[in-house]
Amino acid sequence: MVDGMVDVHLARFKASGAQLLIGSGRFIGPKTVEVALADGGTRVLRGEKVIISTGSRTTLEPVPGLLEASPLTHIEALDLDYIPGHLLIVGGGYIGLEIAQAMRRFGSRVTIIERNARLAHREDEDVSDALHDMFREEGIEVVTSAHITRVEGKSGKWVKLYTVREGSEINLEGTHVLVATGRTPNTQGIGLELAGVETTDRGHVKVNERLETTAPGIWAVGDCAGSPHFTHIVFDDFRIVRDNLAGGHRVTTGRQVPFCMFTDPEFARVGLSETEAKERGIAYRLAKIPIVGVYRARTLCETRGFLKALIDTESDRILGFTALGAEAGEIIAVVQVAMLAGLSYTALRDAIFTHPTMAEGLIPLFSAVPARP
Ligand SMILES: Cc1cc2nc3c(=O)[nH]c(=O)nc-3n(C[C@H](O)[C@H](O)[C@H](O)COP(=O)(O)OP(=O)(O)OC[C@H]3O[C@@H](n4cnc5c(N)ncnc54)[C@H](O)[C@@H]3O)c2cc1C
Repeated sequence: MVDGMVDVHLARFKASGAQLLIGSGRFIGPKTVEVALADGGTRVLRGEKVIISTGSRTTLEPVPGLLEASPLTHIEALDLDYIPGHLLIVGGGYIGLEIAQAMRRFGSRVTIIERNARLAHREDEDVSDALHDMFREEGIEVVTSAHITRVEGKSGKWVKLYTVREGSEINLEGTHVLVATGRTPNTQGIGLELAGVETTDRGHVKVNERLETTAPGIWAVGDCAGSPHFTHIVFDDFRIVRDNLAGGHRVTTGRQVPFCMFTDPEFARVGLSETEAKERGIAYRLAKIPIVGVYRARTLCETRGFLKALIDTESDRILGFTALGAEAGEIIAVVQVAMLAGLSYTALRDAIFTHPTMAEGLIPLFSAVPARP
């Protein structure tokens, strides 16, 4: 599948007439890039406009012994042609959770080690709790509030994580360790300072809402620019820059950032979570139903999870929608379109959805919205 997608993109480059150089680039002056070509030699290029899109990589924290343990990242994990005996996964965010479940289902023993008190800790507590239960049911061990102080051994043979949890020491042993503790932008060592491109405290390229960097004529998009780390967001960043280059004024501010975690079942959200609404002091009405109440969930024999919506207290505007359950990534698109169109929740409540589909579950969900205070 990946090879097929690479071929599609190569064909598109060819058809567009754009020149594609495979190599490692770095700025050597304003708008000037030197490329160490993969097949040898160098090229120096100067562009009237330059776009930086160098992405991000797995963050490797300075834990003693971690680097020496040659930990797996998602890249090596996706390339394994055998099943790890006991995989220790450091990080209970999206990447850690998706890989944990896949590896468990392939047959690995899997332990997730998360430093926060719960999995997917930026999400609402009911999401974390439900994920925790689902993972435990599959036989995935979850150790939360655990701080790794030292690593011993080598991933692929034997590895031991020295961990402190609530004041006591818990040491975890496995055959492999995989690190999924966050992303570091690829902005070091590429001569940004020579091009007048500044970075933020967190190392992202500093951009404004039009995705312009601090250097005139240089733009940055995607993970390296600190945009939310999703493929569909870097695609939207591209559209913003494309249109602004053509004289338009598109901005990143106020755009929707939907996302889906591809566990089984999926978890997806668009708009505000309860946690975010509370943090920002935004009043809301809450509607929540267990997904077992959706007929389609029963026909799919996947009745775990829930649907949840946040509705403005002053108007009937939908502020946010969360789905944990079968086809969650598809259901959010329905609510997302309603939000884009500025529809009130009653439009979905009163809509006729095909029976039996997951979208039909929006009717009982939005019927459960409390009346305005
Ligand atoms: C395991 C995993 C799963 C994910 N799953 C999803 C998902 O399901 N849905 C979703 O929306 N997002 C997902 N993401 C996030 C998504 O992949 C990224 O947000 C997206 O790829 C960012 O695009 P980008 O162009 O900014 O960077 P990238 O896709 O990382 O592309 C940057 C490119 O620049 C190249 N590069 C870097 N430095 C240089 C240099 N100096 N010279 C030349 N080339 C250079 C890199 O080799 C790379 O090819 C996932 C990420 C990971 C790690």
